[in-house]
Amino acid sequence: MVSTAVAGGIVVQGTAASGPSADALAVQNLSNSVGSLEPDVRDLAVAAAGSARQASAAGSRDASRMAMAGVVSQADEAAALADAEQARKATAAKAAAAKKAKAVEAARKKAQRWVSPIANYTLTSGYGWRWGRMHPAQDLAAPTGTPVRALSTGTVIFAGWSSEGYGNFVKIRYWDGTVSWFAHNSRLLVSVGEQVKPGQVVSYSGSTGNSTGPHLHLEIHPRGGAAVAPRAWLGQKGVRL
Ligand SMILES: [Zn+2]
Repeated sequence: MVSTAVAGGIVVQGTAASGPSADALAVQNLSNSVGSLEPDVRDLAVAAAGSARQASAAGSRDASRMAMAGVVSQADEAAALADAEQARKATAAKAAAAKKAKAVEAARKKAQRWVSPIANYTLTSGYGWRWGRMHPAQDLAAPTGTPVRALSTGTVIFAGWSSEGYGNFVKIRYWDGTVSWFAHNSRLLVSVGEQVKPGQVVSYSGSTGNSTGPHLHLEIHPRGGAAVAPRAWLGQKGVRL
């Protein structure tokens, strides 16, 4: 009987009946040797498998880390977006506040502007001595019925007939405390306590009271005190008479 043994890739032939020949013994030894190697191979395989598992586990950890990194990255992104939104809101609020401040300032300027009390007039008696007595006003001759306007924003503190020769008389105290006197009006359009705006028509010019002809008698009393020259005072406010 001829047996064929394959061991370690080496093909050997031997006759079992004739007992182990030197060659067969050699093959047997070789086979044993290979067999003894098998556990090592298995160990290697086991080790390789273990490495693979570890690699896999490591990969898994990496994936985990990456996933974690992704979460962190998303959180960072969300935080950055929140910051950007907050910054955008802050900028918008700042712009709105600036716009409001600008509007408030524009409104203030508009409310505090000074205007001429009358249009289409002729300057007659000025501020100063006249016929031996002081004339603390500027007279502006104008046809009866010419609109007379508030110089700025203020409150009417007198509106009625004057017992002192001013005829139909209007006094207005403005926002800065200055008081204007409008005398000899033909007609009054406001009453005491009324709020007026710059340029608002408060009366119509005339020649009531001690007057020799239709005109507006204008007096300016800073802080309600002594009268000053109206043209100079108005000139300082940018109003030319
Ligand atoms: Zn006068």
